Amino acid sequence: MLTVDVEDWNQLLDRRVGIERPPSTAFRAQMRTLFGVLDELGANATFFVLGTTAADHPHLVAEIGERGHEIACHGYSHERVYQQAPTQFRADVERSLRIIEQVASVRPRGYRAPIFSINRDSLWAYEILEELDFKYDASRCSSPWVPNAISPPAVAPYRIGLRGGRELWELPVASCAVARHSLPLGGASYWRFLPSGLHLRLLRNGVQPYHLLYVHPYECDPEPLRANLPSTSTRAEVRSARRRECWRNFRHETILARLQAIGEHFEFTTCSDALAILASTPQADVRPPIDVDPARPAVAV
Ligand SMILES: [Zn+2]
Repeated sequence: MLTVDVEDWNQLLDRRVGIERPPSTAFRAQMRTLFGVLDELGANATFFVLGTTAADHPHLVAEIGERGHEIACHGYSHERVYQQAPTQFRADVERSLRIIEQVASVRPRGYRAPIFSINRDSLWAYEILEELDFKYDASRCSSPWVPNAISPPAVAPYRIGLRGGRELWELPVASCAVARHSLPLGGASYWRFLPSGLHLRLLRNGVQPYHLLYVHPYECDPEPLRANLPSTSTRAEVRSARRRECWRNFRHETILARLQAIGEHFEFTTCSDALAILASTPQADVRPPIDVDPARPAVAV
């Protein structure tokens, strides 16, 4: 399953320092590059669209669906789920659904939390997603940036058992165990640190019928990223933006090449197409929203 988090890197960077500016032209070019690569590979993907991005780029988001890709939901404002109250979260997702339906005439069935931020403090999010008629969540990733993460890391799709016998599918990001850590094999920013041969071998040796990968449009930009903060920015803001720029540009050029290499060795598909097959097979297990960890008390949902 190839997934794309559709968000404008420059715009999110601006918002971190409290600036609202028109959408960046770089984002449109990045999406064109991504469409071109998928066309060359003859592949479809699932695009988790941020509501603000749909509002800024309605035609581009509509084009995602017109090209035969799946449109899913990435929330509206890119706020971390565990930093929101349940009512805020519901309102944010509903706002995103409204704008996506308006610009692309499609009701998303899949959801991904900004920065994979459904953790042990926000398990209520699964109930809300199911109530909003989502069929699957794709927010579990063994990212080191998620505090109080749900553990142990999930490696295969499974069904989350909810109240009243209801269910929501979870499609976790592909990972593998390295020493005592779990490496998110599916995350494009991690591909920069994995030699291509080793990466493909780890994916090939995986026992799952489907691996879930994710990329961002900015990671597919053939040019280095530029922060472009306004001249009114403080020195601290500029320093922070430069640090982010340096981090994102480190071996940046390897990501697009890796995506093409993976696409030549594996068949990409959308989450909903994979789910149609997974749902018809009996082996996927049903788990409670949180894995039972004897070292920590389970959290009631
Ligand atoms: Zn995001």
